[in-house]
Amino acid sequence: MRQDTICVQGGWKPKKGEPRVLPIYQSTTFKYDTTEEMGRLFALEDNGYFYTRLQNPTNDCVAAKIAELEGGVAAMLTSSGQAANFYAVTNICEAGDHLVCSAKVYGGTFNLYAATLKKMGMECTFVDPDASKEEIEAAFRPNTKAVVGETIANPALTVLDIEKFARAAHAHGCPLIVDNTFATPINCRPFEWGADIVTHSTTKYMDGHAMAVGGCIVDSGNFDWDSHKDKFPGLTTPDPTYHGVTYTRQFGKLAYITKATAQLMRDLGSIPSPMNAFLLNVGLETLALRVERHCSNAKAAAEFLHNHEKVEFVNFAGLKEDPYYELAQKYMPNGTCGVISFGLKGGREEAVRFMDSLKLAAIVTHVADARTCVLHPASHTHRQMTDEQLAKAGVTPGMIRLSVGIENPEDIIEDLEQALKQA
Ligand code: PLP
Repeated sequence: MRQDTICVQGGWKPKKGEPRVLPIYQSTTFKYDTTEEMGRLFALEDNGYFYTRLQNPTNDCVAAKIAELEGGVAAMLTSSGQAANFYAVTNICEAGDHLVCSAKVYGGTFNLYAATLKKMGMECTFVDPDASKEEIEAAFRPNTKAVVGETIANPALTVLDIEKFARAAHAHGCPLIVDNTFATPINCRPFEWGADIVTHSTTKYMDGHAMAVGGCIVDSGNFDWDSHKDKFPGLTTPDPTYHGVTYTRQFGKLAYITKATAQLMRDLGSIPSPMNAFLLNVGLETLALRVERHCSNAKAAAEFLHNHEKVEFVNFAGLKEDPYYELAQKYMPNGTCGVISFGLKGGREEAVRFMDSLKLAAIVTHVADARTCVLHPASHTHRQMTDEQLAKAGVTPGMIRLSVGIENPEDIIEDLEQALKQA
């Protein structure tokens, strides 16, 4: 099936007499007839549901739809995008290990890897995504276990050269993990370019209506963990907390997601509620349509801003003048995303005056909503960063992040125009 069909038909496949719409299995637990039956589930010897912290049928149907959209072999939903990025890494890294990450990533991801993982004994080296292959390679250490980047970085809106990062990662026996939140699988499928694992904050375009915080990890099934046995003992040697199961031996291409579910979800939680998974599924049904409209509206808004005398710069890889236009044409020729970042002449003060004058676009901590919204990264999402860290993340003090919704483009542009008059 093609992407827009998978959005509608993927995941839930009702059998005779079953509900047409994905049911919400709002149950923490599942019943069995014999002690042995449930025992076999705990031993990972049978497939089946027993406790929603590990797996739930509603969640699994939605995960299957996202796996299909990305072209992966399996996926796991998490209760937030942050949890997805945390689990994606800690499923293969532990204290004493090291990561390489693009410096242009979401502020929350930066804090997670730079500060929280550090407290847990893992170190992260941030590299300029535009650095040469040699410069990126120089960041690797013998204990490097993964490379991470964002297809389109939030809020810098740089486009990741996925093939360059995949080559560097693979040359050092590491998987490439790509956060594909902004591009979505409608515009880019990172596995087709060499990425091994994809993460999402489903809170954004996938949900699309600002209803449910959520995340997802998808595995391509392509990374050969057994060829780097010593690097990934968690997957390739017996797990004493699961009766000595060796995930790669018992589960093959499903090893990574099975371990994330059986071990990380079991011990750390962060499962979404089935109700939230249901809402996510409703959002996914219109993802392809919405993404198309978000992209065309954003292009119109970016062109308007680019030609406005009060605007100093516009970052939007769909604009021919943008330094990432060529990379965007390669990796996402049908469109990038609905998010634009831009700065006004006059910097921070003008940015604040402009934002406070908007009428249709609301100031909210969010992007990728059907409703147009704005945020000031230096005051909001990236507030904890020093000026030097801000510059490395591609954020200037006056930068405005505009998430263009699916309203009529003329109304959006009229709102920008009247607010620019006030600035
Ligand atoms: N990844 C990206 C690219 C994001 O933009 C965000 C949030 O904005 C996250 C991850 C974190 O997701 P969540 O807010 O769902 O935890």
